[in-house]
Amino acid sequence: MNELNFKQELTAAFGQPISENPTQVMIEAAYRHHNLDWRYLTIEVGPDDLEAAVRGAKVMGFQGFNCTIPHKVNVIQYLDGLGESASLMGAVNCVVRRNGQWIGENTDGKGFVSSLRELTDPENKKVVIFGAGGAARAISVEVALAGSSSVTIVNRSRERGEELTNLLNDKLPVSADFVAWNSTFSIPSDTDVVINATSIGLYPDIEARLDFAHESLLPNMVVADVIPNPPSTNLVIDARAKGCKVIDGLGMLVNQGVIGIKHWTGIDPDPTVMRTALEEVFR
Ligand code: NDP
Repeated sequence: MNELNFKQELTAAFGQPISENPTQVMIEAAYRHHNLDWRYLTIEVGPDDLEAAVRGAKVMGFQGFNCTIPHKVNVIQYLDGLGESASLMGAVNCVVRRNGQWIGENTDGKGFVSSLRELTDPENKKVVIFGAGGAARAISVEVALAGSSSVTIVNRSRERGEELTNLLNDKLPVSADFVAWNSTFSIPSDTDVVINATSIGLYPDIEARLDFAHESLLPNMVVADVIPNPPSTNLVIDARAKGCKVIDGLGMLVNQGVIGIKHWTGIDPDPTVMRTALEEVFR
């Protein structure tokens, strides 16, 4: 098993050095727990070497790999096919060998929805998402596929926000709207699920807070944060204090790992073992 990535991007994504790649620690904990004689390795690949790396992984008999920024879009041209959500998102984070072919999947949003289902069924829910980058794209596509009735994209840059909103309206059975995030946002009172899919709060900027009206967050809302490091962001702390049900960034990370392991090995790994391994890394 292999992870193709870039040291700087990995550090940017988790605020962790590459030697402690949380995904590797988490996946290998599951392999050990289930007595699987498999490895999941962290390997740096520069953009110019991506094609050779994908070919190399195949001839060396890898069963698949994860890839992260800057490879999530570029890798598609070297694959043989795409799963439904990867095709809708135009981004792949998990590649699986099926019948000798490399198939690109996107497990980020699916991992998020698995976590969300532990607290609420996304069907017919009104969802507010802060952010319009890769994480927001993955999450918004999957909540729409899971039947959410509306998605409001709140984003600083208009271009990215409108592009994502248009994708949702054009390709998915959901009503999406865009709000330019240039002043304090007030969460509509009929919102069911509030999600931070920006990088606000990621180590080392752990004191950062999303700019929304604190009084507009209501106890009946489910609140989710994608930030894995630290898992207890200010949003998570504030939402818990309000009485909201809360999903932290480890939930999404664990569940995308669960889905990846299932794709590669066919077994359903124990998420508790994986979460415990991650908590050790982010302690
Ligand atoms: P991108 O760079 O693609 O997007 C970042 C988003 O954050 C953009 O919408 C950007 O807005 C917004 N943003 C960043 N800083 C600010 C700010 N100061 N004020 C307002 N908006 C801001 O990153 P990703 O979507 O790939 O990742 C986002 C986060 O999600 C990362 O921190 C990563 O750790 C986390 N993540 C977690 C996963 C998990 O499994 N838990 C999986 C994947 C990602 P703008 O468009 O205006 O620049």
